[in-house]
Amino acid sequence: SAMRKSRIKRTKTVCTYCGVGCSFDIWTKGRQVLKVEPSPEAPTNGISTCIKGKFGWDFVNSPQRLTQPLIRRGDAFYEATWEEAYRLIAERMLQIKKQHGPDSFMFIASSKATNEEAYLLQKLARHAIGTNNVDNDSTYCQDPATYGLRQTVGFGGDSGSVSDIAQADMVMIVGSNTAESHPVVATRVKRAHKLHGQKLVVVDIRRHEMAERADIFVQPNPGTDGVWILGISKYLIDQDWIDHDFLSQWVTGFEDYKEFLAPYSLEHTRTITGVPEQTTMQVASMIHEAHSLSILWAMGVTQHRDGSETSLAIANLLLLTGNFARPGTGAYPLRGHNNVQGASDFGAKPHYLPGYQDPADPEVRERFKAAWGKELPKTRGINNQELAGAILQGRIKMVYIVGEDTGLVDANAEEARQAFEQLEFMVVQEIFLTKTAQYADVILPASPSLEKDGTFVNTERRIQRIYQAMEPLANSRPDWIILQDMASHLGAQWPTYTHPEEIMAEAARLTPLFAGVTYERLEGYRSLQWPVLEDGTDSPLLYTQSFHQPDGKAHLVALTMSGMSQVDAKYDLHINNGQLLEHFHEGNMTYQSAGIRHVVPGMFVEVSPELAHERNLQDGTMVRLVSPTGSLTAPVLITDRVSGKALYVPMNSLGEGAVNNITGTGIDTRTSTPAYKETRAYMEVVDPQ
Ligand code: SF4
Repeated sequence: SAMRKSRIKRTKTVCTYCGVGCSFDIWTKGRQVLKVEPSPEAPTNGISTCIKGKFGWDFVNSPQRLTQPLIRRGDAFYEATWEEAYRLIAERMLQIKKQHGPDSFMFIASSKATNEEAYLLQKLARHAIGTNNVDNDSTYCQDPATYGLRQTVGFGGDSGSVSDIAQADMVMIVGSNTAESHPVVATRVKRAHKLHGQKLVVVDIRRHEMAERADIFVQPNPGTDGVWILGISKYLIDQDWIDHDFLSQWVTGFEDYKEFLAPYSLEHTRTITGVPEQTTMQVASMIHEAHSLSILWAMGVTQHRDGSETSLAIANLLLLTGNFARPGTGAYPLRGHNNVQGASDFGAKPHYLPGYQDPADPEVRERFKAAWGKELPKTRGINNQELAGAILQGRIKMVYIVGEDTGLVDANAEEARQAFEQLEFMVVQEIFLTKTAQYADVILPASPSLEKDGTFVNTERRIQRIYQAMEPLANSRPDWIILQDMASHLGAQWPTYTHPEEIMAEAARLTPLFAGVTYERLEGYRSLQWPVLEDGTDSPLLYTQSFHQPDGKAHLVALTMSGMSQVDAKYDLHINNGQLLEHFHEGNMTYQSAGIRHVVPGMFVEVSPELAHERNLQDGTMVRLVSPTGSLTAPVLITDRVSGKALYVPMNSLGEGAVNNITGTGIDTRTSTPAYKETRAYMEVVDPQ
């Protein structure tokens, strides 16, 4: 009937899971998700999606959704009205500000919320409170890549588009389990490899699906992929397989970099990495023969102490061989969460305003002062990684978290939990009662992407629109409304935003990178890749005019590589971790889907056949992995995806046994990104009783 038909609704949205940023239509009837329908108009994915985008929506109707503000009383929470919750929070915030000053606050933005919400959270921190203490999840994953790219070519984002990856002559994937973490990008590569003869090299410590498909699989010792990049770079120079014209026209620092590479002979490289000379030479000649090379990398590179250095080395390799600014070329750090790129782009970083503007730059400060009617805070802010320490030292008294499960995701989860207990006040905006939320004094029920309007930025710097498909569940509210209400209860002078479009307009006015971004230009499946000029011209491929450095040239930057895994006689095993296709990170959202939970029920440890033989392990043997910081217990899965003493543990574990219990305190020194992928441990067989 007409009645029933009118209740069925079709809404364009963007996937809420990974940074590929697939867009599609979602059919709903009331709160019921009927189906996901891909559209050929979708700029990144066309008609492709993966299992998460297609079936991962049950969580929006989970009975475990938070539906009412909750206020702590002793060990329990009681349901409160929004007004009650807002008043209590504002009162405590103003009190803490008066007593301890603005820098006693920390704000954490969500990498799953919209750009407009990231913008408002950093505005709440900088304008309503007056601190630069604001960060997002990128500190845990891709900041090292951003660092490497800003030093060399200038922009902290993918230098081209997913379509460039598809049309490259050669693709090299370093430290990324692309088939499971960024499935639709992997699909593009698989197609190009199979149908168009694209060459594929995979550099990883684990023989995952893409490694199986690769023309050459390079398996360096854990933690030495950066050294291998240096080794192959030197060999390319020695063979004179570099792009002299490109270097002389566009790049500075060649002589110094060449000198820096001098020790990395093929032999020296083999001694450290274990990669045979022959393999390195083969990859080098493949690079030499390829007209265009794209390099993709992810957390297998960045979550190491050498994460920034390896990212620099990758950018340098692309520069040496002239692989920028042409279709099919470029650097592609693959972003994890659907909007981790946007959360940083829109200013939720302690050292960047929206669009990576420097809060110390006088011209920038003037512009914000004119718009916000207030001087920006000057002191450098603290980042997520410094947070637990700052709380324990008594410097941070209040934490305001939007949609991040910091208690579980922090590499040293135990320390984070102790720290939360010391806070004077803590607010969490969430869709579920996460571990982190359980430490809060007030929990505010938020709305996921299907229940609001806004925009996301995917891994290729593409800004895309999401449209509201259904009303917020019960009493939950979109984060942009909550943040605005908070500002008004704090007495901050903000304009009244009636729609996220107005928030974007303000951000665009203040940020040259987004100068031409308007909702009109983002209508439906239209999208814009930053930087966006005032007239709406966007940038699918970067650096075609010049590099984004003051002199317009890219810089080859020498680096310091520690280049070693930290195993020793006691902790003799190297533990790697990563994602499974069916789950997303720690699984808070995907575990809500009955179908997905059924396919991959639990946790396991991948062990190489050699190690299994040596230790007399069978499939299913229960083992305990003990690291310097904790332990976890899980059954063994024997597989040749891993080799020697390198083990692999999936990230998708709920509650006890979470892999973060054993990851340690090592960090990438340039960015503080935790060295999650660098855990050492010993193994005990658990008595089967
Ligand atoms: Fe979503 Fe990523 Fe899958 Fe696309 S590839 S549907 S963005 S999880």
